[in-house]
Amino acid sequence: MTQCGIAILGSTGSIGTQTLDVVRSLANGHRVWGLAARTRWEALAGQVREFAAPFAALAEQDAAAALKTRLGTAPCEVLEGDEGLLKIATLPEVHVVVSSIVGAAGLKATLAAVDQGKRVAIANKESLVVAGTLLMKRARASGAEILPIDSEHSAIFQSLRSGRPQEVEKLILTASGGPFRTLPRERFADIRVEEALKHPNWQMGPKITVDSATLMNKALEVIEAKYLFGIDPERIEVVIHPQSIVHSCVQFVDGSVVAQMGLPDMRIPIQYALTHPERLPGTAPRLDLAKQPPLAFEAPDLNRFPALALGYRAARLGGTMEAVLSAANEIAVERFLAGALRFSDIPAVVEKTMDAHTLIADPSLEQILAADRWARASARTLCQLCQKEKTA
Ligand code: MG
Repeated sequence: MTQCGIAILGSTGSIGTQTLDVVRSLANGHRVWGLAARTRWEALAGQVREFAAPFAALAEQDAAAALKTRLGTAPCEVLEGDEGLLKIATLPEVHVVVSSIVGAAGLKATLAAVDQGKRVAIANKESLVVAGTLLMKRARASGAEILPIDSEHSAIFQSLRSGRPQEVEKLILTASGGPFRTLPRERFADIRVEEALKHPNWQMGPKITVDSATLMNKALEVIEAKYLFGIDPERIEVVIHPQSIVHSCVQFVDGSVVAQMGLPDMRIPIQYALTHPERLPGTAPRLDLAKQPPLAFEAPDLNRFPALALGYRAARLGGTMEAVLSAANEIAVERFLAGALRFSDIPAVVEKTMDAHTLIADPSLEQILAADRWARASARTLCQLCQKEKTA
């Protein structure tokens, strides 16, 4: 490979910093051209200096001004706002855009990178959930590659190399089951924020950690897989696998199941998305099968984890319903983290929002964003009702 230019949207977050770990270890051949974050200008300043990034962007004006002052005469152009994010995503020197900023600004920047025919390594599953049809359509038009960073989808992407598309029978997504896998149903209402933030296997941001505890994360991943691999939700199965060693599998028409395994370490899927189709030496710790506890698998319990069923429902309906699911969930999780909503109310708020939504089957980007705004407002109202019940 000639020199590969990299841009990271969301460079100070969990995926962003791990991507920089990978770039550090790959050394030659990879150059960081642009880094973008929301507000954490001090962390961004350190990254700009270490990787000599010529461009940096911050969503907030004040943060951008602080970064400019901190960098002084360093050769880095500091950008701000949605425009800055767009510019980082479309720099001509950039071949791979790592997309891990959520929300409308992140989605627009991701679409812009796709339209430029770049490789987009996608870590914000929300982009695919909300606008999967648009993203995949525009990638086909521009020749852009959309590669997964999500560990399950990377596992499927890698396993798919064992056969042809028409030879695939089904995808098997594994789920750790989160911290409440064995908790009795009657305890779900009193789950505290600190308990939900303790994931048994993965170190992740708070929103995705709560999503893993409700299994909403897996619901979003069913939708993500539907778009990435162009497969009906009926042919996507979820299996609980508490050890998180088998990251997901593909079952082929002859009955063969091909899986990708490894210790839970996001640097493996991140690196593969950067270097595919090559595999380069990596620094992630190695799996020693003989030292592993037994690997277990079980069916998910939809009664205790209704979010998963909501994900399948949204995936079957498509259109604006997937954006509504994702947006309502974001609000509910935000309220839960603020101590204003019960854990068990998270899927209830999402379900009620979906029930109230009038589906648009083949929406434009504007219609998707309008559905997203509508869902946030509806979910907020529902959360307030739940809060009144909680404090009553
Ligand atoms: Mg995942």
